[in-house]
Amino acid sequence: MSKNLTKRSEDYSKWYNELVVKADLAENSGVRGCMVIKPYGYAIWEKMQAELDRMFKETGHQNAYFPLFIPKSYFSKEASHVDGFAKECAVVTHYRLKTSEDGKTIEVDPDAKLEEELIVRPTSETIIWDTYRKWIQSYRDLPILVNQWANVVRWEMRTRLFLRTAEFLWQEGHTAHATKQEAIAEAEQMMNVYAEFAENFMAIPVIKGVKTANERFAGAEETYCIEALMQDGKALQAGTSHFLGQNFAKAFDVKFANQEGKQDYVWATSWGVSTRLMGALVMTHSDDNGLVLPPNLAPIQVVIVPIHRSDEQLEEISAEVKTLMAQLRKLNISVKYDDRTTHKPGWKFNEYELKGVPVRIAVGPKDLENGTFEVARRDTLTKEIVAKADIANYIQDLLEKIQSELFNKAIEYRNSHITEVNSFEEFKDILDNKGGFVAAHWDGTGETEERIKELTKATIRCIALDRVEEEGKCVLTGAPSKGRVLFAKAY
Ligand code: AMP
Repeated sequence: MSKNLTKRSEDYSKWYNELVVKADLAENSGVRGCMVIKPYGYAIWEKMQAELDRMFKETGHQNAYFPLFIPKSYFSKEASHVDGFAKECAVVTHYRLKTSEDGKTIEVDPDAKLEEELIVRPTSETIIWDTYRKWIQSYRDLPILVNQWANVVRWEMRTRLFLRTAEFLWQEGHTAHATKQEAIAEAEQMMNVYAEFAENFMAIPVIKGVKTANERFAGAEETYCIEALMQDGKALQAGTSHFLGQNFAKAFDVKFANQEGKQDYVWATSWGVSTRLMGALVMTHSDDNGLVLPPNLAPIQVVIVPIHRSDEQLEEISAEVKTLMAQLRKLNISVKYDDRTTHKPGWKFNEYELKGVPVRIAVGPKDLENGTFEVARRDTLTKEIVAKADIANYIQDLLEKIQSELFNKAIEYRNSHITEVNSFEEFKDILDNKGGFVAAHWDGTGETEERIKELTKATIRCIALDRVEEEGKCVLTGAPSKGRVLFAKAY
């Protein structure tokens, strides 16, 4: 099977689109901006979900579910929130269709107009805070630590599979607290959970930071984020965690009696990651031959392909493979034996390379004679002959090694693409010719940030939490600055 993938160096964007489709992750649907996630892609998403869900529960959260529809009046209660989301809301106005007079088409029944329009949730703060009002009376009812797995709709104008879709799958955590400090600690904790997940599970290095006021979530006092760098030098916001202050409690009148018996507004956070992470995964590790999956996320970690001429040979190989599969499964390794006789080994090799299966084992008559297996790594495309006696432990160690080497490779790339610049000329030069994060001084104003965006398309990705305080001059205006911020062109 020929892969016919465009090379990354020729057209990165085209490579990405082709790969997502050819590797059977997702495809465009008949609905503008909405994708179909195919079984192989969904299996990867399920692995992400399972691990995140485990981490949320480990940090004390529970899952719940709230309605897909939000009455328009709820939405307008928090002014900056509605401002931020108004431009991308899908609105339900009617609840019935009817057949046209000539019987040929169906149309909206004008008699079935909703008294109040419903917004298809772009995020659920409003419906959830309307509910929390009923759940919270006293400090004893706090904290509330709830997460929801759901789909949301944001009517995005320019969409791309996984990275930006009009409907996407995500989780949204919504927590309520008695104190400001506790809510801030929660928002920071969840940013840390996301960072740990991205780095340890997805092998994607991220920078933890806070957004500038311009880039903040609509309705938040502070937005914490994790920012990743893709292989083409563009940044990707991989997750956000918001400290919402008392904004939603005030908008929805959610008060509680504190320990002194005084009434106070409740403090809030919300945090989310989406199917965008699938895009981050593809764009961080994959190559011109197809997907490269970290073993932690690979639906199939090891594929075994028999090489045979006769049915007898296949039988002999299969007997050997059966033992091997049992050994690997005992070690919780997911393994597939592809003994289809309808496809040639070369075709299968290509297919599993395209799908990013981390390890391929080939077994032929020679291996049977010698008591060996041929083990190939997807990430490095290298092969080794391994003795039968050592194979199971060898594979287990190899999977761990691949996982950590993928991370090391990605962080090396990322670190070599953070460039400090001290003039606007340098700033533009790095953005145009090297890409990646540009660490530059900024005068702290929204106007300068906007102006730089207009001139270069680069935005401030974040103010890194670990940045060093350093006196300097803004690259654009020369006004004083207290430290560098990270700019980049972004998805
Ligand atoms: P937000 O609620 O805007 O903070 O976004 C929560 C998470 O969803 C972040 O990780 C975003 O990167 C991601 N996200 C936002 N918009 C989209 C979209 N249109 N498609 C996929 N993911 C998105």
